[in-house]
Amino acid sequence: MTLRKKILLGYGVSFALMGFVVSWGIINLISLGKTSNEILQENYKSILSAHNMLNSLERQDSAMLITFLGDNKLGITQFRENDANFLEWLTRAKGNITIKGESELLYFIETNYQSYRQLYSKITELKEIDTSSLAESLNIYKNSVYPLFLQIRDKVTQLLKLNEKTMYEASIKAEKVAVHAILSTLFVAALSFIIALSFSLFISERITNPINKFIDASREVSSGNYEVELPIQTHDELGSLAEEFNKMALQLKHYQKMSINKEVERMKNEFIMALSHELKTPLTSMGMSIDLLMEHGVHSLDKRDQELLQVTYDEIHRMKTLVNDLLELSKSESGKISLEFERVPINTLFEHVLTIFKGQSEIKHVTITTLPQFAKEMKILPNVRADANKITWVLSNLISNALRYVGDGGIIELMAANRGDGNINISVRDNGPGIPNEYQTKIFQKFIQVKGQSSGGSGLGLAICKEIINAHSGTIWVESEVGKGSVFTFTLPIYN
Ligand code: ADP
Repeated sequence: MTLRKKILLGYGVSFALMGFVVSWGIINLISLGKTSNEILQENYKSILSAHNMLNSLERQDSAMLITFLGDNKLGITQFRENDANFLEWLTRAKGNITIKGESELLYFIETNYQSYRQLYSKITELKEIDTSSLAESLNIYKNSVYPLFLQIRDKVTQLLKLNEKTMYEASIKAEKVAVHAILSTLFVAALSFIIALSFSLFISERITNPINKFIDASREVSSGNYEVELPIQTHDELGSLAEEFNKMALQLKHYQKMSINKEVERMKNEFIMALSHELKTPLTSMGMSIDLLMEHGVHSLDKRDQELLQVTYDEIHRMKTLVNDLLELSKSESGKISLEFERVPINTLFEHVLTIFKGQSEIKHVTITTLPQFAKEMKILPNVRADANKITWVLSNLISNALRYVGDGGIIELMAANRGDGNINISVRDNGPGIPNEYQTKIFQKFIQVKGQSSGGSGLGLAICKEIINAHSGTIWVESEVGKGSVFTFTLPIYN
C-alpha cells in the first residue's frame, strides 16, 4: 500500500467513525422526538376532550336545574348548546382511541349519555303539558337524572385519569429514552475515539518508524560510513526510497574506493617518475663510460673479459631504454604530458621516420616504404592536428617493433587514409610473425609481451603509444594474423 493510501486510510477511518457517531446521535434524537410526539398526539387530545366533555356535562346539569326551577326556555337553550358541545368532543375522543380500556369507557359514556338526553327531553315534554310542583320535579331529578349524571361524570373523569396516567408514564418513558440516548451516544463516541486514536497511532508509527531509520542511516553516511543498509519492509514510497538510498550508499562506497584507487595510482606514478628520473643520470654516465671502454679499452682485455664487457654494454642500454620508457609513461599517465598541437602534413611525418630508420633498415635488410598506391593519395590528404614530436615517437616505436620482429628481407609499409569522419587512419604494416588473437588488445597494457617472443624491449612501448594517441583524442589498435604479419593503426583528427 502506498504512503498516500495509508494516510488516506487513516483519515478515512476517523471520518467513518465520526460519521457513525453523528448518525447514532441523530437516530437517538429522532426516536426521542417520536416518543414525546406520541405523548402529545395520543393523550393530549383525549385529555382535552375529556375536560370539555366534563365541562359540558356540568353545564347541562345546571341547565337541567334551571328547567326545574321554571325557566324552561333558558334551560333548554343551555342544554342544547352544551349537548352539541358534548357530542362534538365525544366524537373527537372516539376518533382518538389509543389506550386499552378507552373504547369501553367511551362506549359506556355514549350509551348512558343517550339515556341522559332522552330523560331530559322527556322531562321538558312533561313540563310543557302540565306545570307540576317544584317538589315533584326535584324528586324526579334526585331519583333518576342526577344518578345518571354522576355515572357519566364518573366515567368521563376515569377517561381523563386514564389518559393523564398514560401521559405520565409516557413522559417517564421519554426520560428513560433520553438517558439511554445520552449514554449510548457517549459510549459510541468514546469507543470511536479509542479506535480512531489507536488506528492513527498505528499508522503514524508505520510511517515514522522507517523515517527514523532513514535519519539514522543518513547520519551514518554523512559521517563517512557507507556500510549502511536499510531494510526494505514496505512496498510504499518509503520502501522504494529505502531501495534508492541503499543504491546510493553502495555507489558512494564505490566512489570512495575509486578515489582511493586513483590516489594510489597517482602516488605510484609519482614514485616511478621520481625513481626513473633519479636512475637516468647515473645510467647515462655509466653508458658513456662503457661506450668509452668499448671504444678504447677493449683491446687490452682478453676474450672472456671482452665478452663480459659486451654483455654489460647491452644490459646498460636495455636499462636506459626501460628507464626512459618508464619516465615517459608515468609522465603521460599522470597527465603531465604536454602536447604542442600544430598543423602537421602526414607526408612530413612519414618522411621523417623514413630518414630515422634508413640506416637500421639497411643493416637488417628490411624495406620500409610508403605504399606507391598511397603515395599519390597521401599528398592530397588533409593535415592532422597533432604534436609532431610525439607522433614521430609513436610511429618510431611501431616501426622499431616491426623491425625487431620481421626477419631478414621483411617489408614494412606505412599507410594513411581519410576515414571520412574527421579523422585520418595511420597504419604500420609488417609481414612479421603476427600476434595471436588473445594478445591483440592486451599488448597495449603495461609490461605485456607475447609469450615466447624474445624482444629485448621493455613491454612499455605500446602502452606509451596508447597514452599519446589518447591524449590526441584518437584510438589505436592492431589487426594481425599469426604467420602473416600485423597492421598497427591509430587515428588522428584532421586540422581545421
Ligand atoms: P616491447 O618493448 O616488448 O616491444 P611493446 O609494448 O612495444 O613492448 O610491445 C608489446 C608486445 O607486443 C611485444 O613484446 C611483442 O610481443 C608484441 N608486438 C609488438 N609489435 C609487434 C609486431 N610488429 N609484430 C609482432 N609482435 C609485436
